[in-house]
Amino acid sequence: MAKYGMAIDLDKCVGCGACALACKTENNTSFETNSKKFNWADYLTFTTGTFAAGDVSFKVVPVLCNHCTDAPCVEICPVTPTALYKSDTGITLHNQERCIGCRLCQTACPYSEHDVDEGDAQYSVISYNPDNGPSHSFYADETSTILNGTSSPKEVADLVAVMPPDKHDYTHPDYGAVRIDNVTEKCIFCDHRVQVGDDPYCVVSCPTGARIFGDMEDSGSDVSLAIANGAGRLKDNSGTYLGSGEAGTNPNVFYLGEGVPTGIKRREIETPVELISIYPNPSVNNAFIEFKLKDSSNVTIEAYNIGGKIVKMVLKDQPLIAGNNKVELDVSDLSAGTYIIRLSYGKTVSTANLVVSQ
Ligand code: SF4
Ligand code: SF4
Ligand code: SF4
Repeated sequence: MAKYGMAIDLDKCVGCGACALACKTENNTSFETNSKKFNWADYLTFTTGTFAAGDVSFKVVPVLCNHCTDAPCVEICPVTPTALYKSDTGITLHNQERCIGCRLCQTACPYSEHDVDEGDAQYSVISYNPDNGPSHSFYADETSTILNGTSSPKEVADLVAVMPPDKHDYTHPDYGAVRIDNVTEKCIFCDHRVQVGDDPYCVVSCPTGARIFGDMEDSGSDVSLAIANGAGRLKDNSGTYLGSGEAGTNPNVFYLGEGVPTGIKRREIETPVELISIYPNPSVNNAFIEFKLKDSSNVTIEAYNIGGKIVKMVLKDQPLIAGNNKVELDVSDLSAGTYIIRLSYGKTVSTANLVVSQ
């Protein structure tokens, strides 16, 4: 069985962004909104020096999911089977039906951020569609695309009656051609193409052939030959390499050519809701869900079974006060087992397990 990986030659990359556009057209990802880029193929940019001094330098480093062998996003995923999982071919895949949008994978992945428009974060491998707005929200906009023009993105979407209007259709058992609300999403190494013998679309769209995809276990494959004499692997989304002998999460995306600049720090995530606690874990008919909100907010609380299916809506867009809150949950209609309680407001999500015994 092949184990897939990718090499990106930084000496060949001209920073044109064709890979990022190709991925968007192939996988129907959204435009940037809600502090998410939805760019499964993205790039870090680094500028040093100044024009005035005559020593300015601009560098582009393409990035995507590293399809790590030791993937912490998979390890932390709370549903069973996990929504993020490793395929037999080494690809980190995402099942959007099982995903409950808890965002734990974003926290665990060293290449991801919750939001990309604050601090130093330039990109996030994993994006999230909040449940308080449509994915592809660009096409809900009724303002004219061209100033004083007559056509708006919404009009185009309504006329075509397909979302997004330029939808590229394909099928895959685990993910749809179009993302859905309330779940996370990321690069899937174009598994729907790879399974039929095609290369990922960012690879075939690169005009300089800087991206090389193939079987890492075949020592004669193009990708194995490309990295045979050494290659770098990213350590995190600041653009720093793994140190000598450092395995990190064992990324399967490799960089060739001139070194990746360093200097951008990973931003710490501020938690606007303190992790919810649940007590007692009941053998009786009710449980209490306690949490602390930083600001007054509309809160939704749902109970999922361990397979990622919603079993109870506890609160829906309920306005709650800043500070401590306590919500009672009737569990008399839940059978014995473990459940995931998911609390969300805006872009913030927190989860805790609830164990119901007989
Ligand atoms: S880069 Fe992040 S999302 Fe991709 S496999 Fe590694 S840990 Fe998971
Ligand atoms: S957001 Fe989805 S994929 Fe990520 S950890 Fe939660 S259930 Fe798993
Ligand atoms: S491999 Fe496919 S899904 Fe991943 S970045 Fe490239 S085009 Fe996008």
